[in-house]
Amino acid sequence: MKMVFLGPPGAGKGTLAALASGRMGLPHISTGDLFRAAIKDGSELGKKVKGILDEGSLVPDALTIALVEERLSQNDAQRGWILDGFPRTTGQAEALAGISDPEWVINFDVEDSVILKRLTGRRICSGCGKIYHIESMPPSVEGVCDACGAGLYTRPDDSQESIRTRLSAYRSQTAPLVEWYGGKGKLLTIDGTGAPERVYERFMEAIKA
Ligand code: AMP
Repeated sequence: MKMVFLGPPGAGKGTLAALASGRMGLPHISTGDLFRAAIKDGSELGKKVKGILDEGSLVPDALTIALVEERLSQNDAQRGWILDGFPRTTGQAEALAGISDPEWVINFDVEDSVILKRLTGRRICSGCGKIYHIESMPPSVEGVCDACGAGLYTRPDDSQESIRTRLSAYRSQTAPLVEWYGGKGKLLTIDGTGAPERVYERFMEAIKA
């Protein structure tokens, strides 16, 4: 199955994609994670995109599409995938349709007040990338990952200023994709509030129906 997870930053796309990927045996492909890995490696791509990610703007389409095209050509992506955070513009959606069209686009619907609370309390494991929240999903030991024992950090783009830029990029460039995919009959909108397990149940109900 080929699926796109669509929604504003903080909608829970990454958390749900990680859950669904493990349970459905599909690779979880997050463009944000691919960019952060490139930055960590200090690669040419990483150097180009670091400032863009930190301020919360979108990386240019050409760079992003080339990255996804390469990732989707790998062996593990031939039977299906979950794309998390791509496409984010109509140009990217058109390019994806030319590479490999998704069967379903899951749109996570979450109110702004919930988004802000999620993003400001979000912590990420520096070792395995597991996502925590200081209130709703804290680790057993503060600042330490339950899964691998590495330290947790706050994403630089989870600052108040970057969050504002990311939400405005979402509204102007990504939100139009809801209608775009809706018009193609591929869109499933689900309520993204509540615990990840509850959202996962809604997601399963939606794709089964
Ligand atoms: P995410 O982890 O999905 O929140 O993405 C983090 C950041 O990576 C975004 O704020 C953008 O700077 C960049 N990014 C991720 N995916 C895309 C995309 N599809 N198009 C452009 N920029 C992206």
